[in-house]
Amino acid sequence: MAVGAVSNGIESDVNRWQYLNRFLTTPGPFTDDEATLGDEIIQRISSMKILVIGAGGLGCELLKNLALSGFKDIHVIDMDTIDVSNLNRQFLFRQADVGRHKAEVAAEFVEKRVKGVKITPYCGKIQDKDEDYYMQFGLVICGLDSVEARRWINAMLVGMVDGDNPDSLKPLIDGGTEGFKGQSKVILPTMTSCIECQLDMHAPREAVPLCTLATIPRQPQHCIEWAHIIAWEEERKDITLDTDDPEHITWLFQKALARAQEFNIQGVTYSMTQGVVKNIIPAIASTNAIIAASSCNEALKLASSTNPGLGMPGSNNYMMYSGDEGIYTYTFEHLKKDDCPVCGNLAKKIEVNSNITLRELIENLAERPEARQLKKPTIRTEAKSLYYQAPPSLEEQTRPNLDKKLTDLVSDGEEIAVSDPAYHQIQFRFKLLFRS
Ligand SMILES: [Zn+2]
Repeated sequence: MAVGAVSNGIESDVNRWQYLNRFLTTPGPFTDDEATLGDEIIQRISSMKILVIGAGGLGCELLKNLALSGFKDIHVIDMDTIDVSNLNRQFLFRQADVGRHKAEVAAEFVEKRVKGVKITPYCGKIQDKDEDYYMQFGLVICGLDSVEARRWINAMLVGMVDGDNPDSLKPLIDGGTEGFKGQSKVILPTMTSCIECQLDMHAPREAVPLCTLATIPRQPQHCIEWAHIIAWEEERKDITLDTDDPEHITWLFQKALARAQEFNIQGVTYSMTQGVVKNIIPAIASTNAIIAASSCNEALKLASSTNPGLGMPGSNNYMMYSGDEGIYTYTFEHLKKDDCPVCGNLAKKIEVNSNITLRELIENLAERPEARQLKKPTIRTEAKSLYYQAPPSLEEQTRPNLDKKLTDLVSDGEEIAVSDPAYHQIQFRFKLLFRS
C-alpha cells in the first residue's frame, strides 16, 4: 500500500473496499441472474438499515463484520452493561468501559475504526420497541443468548408481515452458540420455518414450576433453584442477593446440598450452584467468531444477491456447527410446522389426563417442552374464559375454575387458546385429547 493511501482518507477508503467491491461488481458462477451488480448494489448495502440484536460475544463480532462488509447504517440493541468477565472475548470493550452499556461502547468503537459507518445504539430491551421501529429495517440479525428474546422478536417479525406490502417481510438471521457448538439460520417470516417451529432444536433450561421446587425436587438444579428462590427469601430476605459474592453463593450451595441430601439427589456442587444462579452459558470466542461470520455472510448475500444464501423457501435454511469432536457442519432445511403457535394455522395436539384440574393443567403446561415458559397463562376456549391472570376482576371471577376438573370445563378434542405476558403476541393453541 502506498504511503499516500494511509494519509489520504479517500484513497484509503478505496483500498479498504477494493476486494469487497470487486465481488459486488463482477458476476460469478453463482450470481443470481436478476442481480444488478455494480454501484447500485454497493449503494443498496451501504444505505440498508440493519438491526443487530445483542452486543455481547456474538454481537461484537457481528458489528465488526457488518461494518467491514459495507453496511453503513447499523442499529444495535442491548440492555446489558459491561462486566469485567466479558473482556476476554467481547473485544470492542476495554477495562475502562466496565459498567457502561455494551451497545453504546460497541457503537463508538466500530464507528471510530471504520470511517463512514453509522451505528445507532439503543440501551434497553427489544420489548421497549414497537412495530413501527422494527419496520424501518431491511433485515434483523440476532446474536442473543436468550431463547425468550429470540421468541419475542420472531413473533414480532412474523406478526408484522402484511401480504400486500412486500417491505413488511424482514428476513431474520439468527446465530447462537453454546460452548463448541453453534448454529446460524435464516428465517423469512411466514414463508419458512420460524424460531418457534425450531424450538425443539434448542435445549434451554425448562421452566420448573414453583410447586416442584417446593415439594418434590428431582434434579440437583431443582435444589439450587429452591435455595435461590425460596430459601433465600425465607431466611435472608433483608439481604440483596449478589451473585458475584462468594459468601452468598456458598450459602446457597450449602442450602442446596442439604436439600439434595434430604431427597437423595446427587450432583450439587459449588460451580453448578454458580452456573444455575448466574445462568451461565459457556462461551468460546472462536465459536462466536465462526457463527457470527456465517451469519454476516448470509446478510451480505441476502442484501446483494451475489450468491445464493440460506433461507429461500424449499431450500436449506439452517446451518449447524459442531466443534466439540473435531469439526462438523451440517446444513439442512428445517421445515415449517403447521401447528406452530406463531406461524402455523393448526392447533397443537396435547394429551392430558382427564382427571386433572385446570390448575394442574397450568402446571403441566409450564413443564411441557412445546409450551415451556408459559408461567402465567391466561386460558380460554372459543366459547368461554377458563382462567385470566388479569385484570383483577376477571382473575377473581375465573379463579374458581382452577380447582375444577378439566372434564367439567372442556370436552375431549376441544381447542384452548393460551396466552402469556412474556409472549404477548403469541396465542398458543392446543387441542386437548383426554386420556383416562
Ligand atoms: Zn413457526
